[in-house]
Amino acid sequence: MSFLLAALVAGLVAAPLPGQTYDPKKQSPKPLVTSQARIPAGERFPAAKPVFTGKFSHVKVDKNFDHDHPDKVTEVKMYIPWDPTDTTKQVKLQIGEPESNGIPKVVTYRVLQIHMHRHGEHTMDGNEYQLEMHCVLGDPRADENGKPPPITAVLGFLIVQGEQNKGLEFYFQYLTSPIGKVDFTAPPLETVQQDLNLLLPHDKTYFSYHGSLTTPNLGNTPLNETPILWYVLRNEIHVSNDQYNKYFHAVEEHFRILQTGNDSTVWLIIPQPLGEQ
Ligand SMILES: [Zn+2]
Repeated sequence: MSFLLAALVAGLVAAPLPGQTYDPKKQSPKPLVTSQARIPAGERFPAAKPVFTGKFSHVKVDKNFDHDHPDKVTEVKMYIPWDPTDTTKQVKLQIGEPESNGIPKVVTYRVLQIHMHRHGEHTMDGNEYQLEMHCVLGDPRADENGKPPPITAVLGFLIVQGEQNKGLEFYFQYLTSPIGKVDFTAPPLETVQQDLNLLLPHDKTYFSYHGSLTTPNLGNTPLNETPILWYVLRNEIHVSNDQYNKYFHAVEEHFRILQTGNDSTVWLIIPQPLGEQ
């Protein structure tokens, strides 16, 4: 019996599901280094600017708990509603997917859910971040049998403490909401129509590389599922001290260690037109 088969039988490693791959050379988070990222020929790509369309006024909150400590929350995912019949109630992201030469092709994803990690997972130019937010993306199509489409990409936001982030107030409100302990559909946010564009930094330059999910496994092994196309905004966003503390007290530290064996090219996509900062 091979070691892998023996390990599978012993339950030491999860059996891969059909269609899933676990590429050891494409694991995330990959350290991001601006001077090592490649800028595609043409340099500026205004059409590849990240833009969200559609708004939402409530989310479905899904809390994950620590296996050994069921009172400890390790992750809070907020699912964005998707109305298959009303396109104004579908939240999508348009962004540029780098082709093999790095030139970004404009693509549209469905926004599935958002969550955070403390501390951050990606590093940029050696800097570590206090928080990182992941906007999880899939194909823009309707639910099949009530199940959302598989995850194909993630947009990552690196977060530091500073001014209050009004665009993220819904996340922190729902995080500490007393109305639900496990899974609940949060009530509408007053009359707010939440717009995720509020979260984007002014300079929308981003890194893109081929990687993996960063959960469930937080170490080097076992591997996490591939392929996931990563987009990480090069400019950090802010949350206030109060907002950070809400997260700190509501959710345990939960992040994957850096994966230095990822051999994929990191592209740096600059959507700002020349002359514009
Ligand atoms: Zn994540």
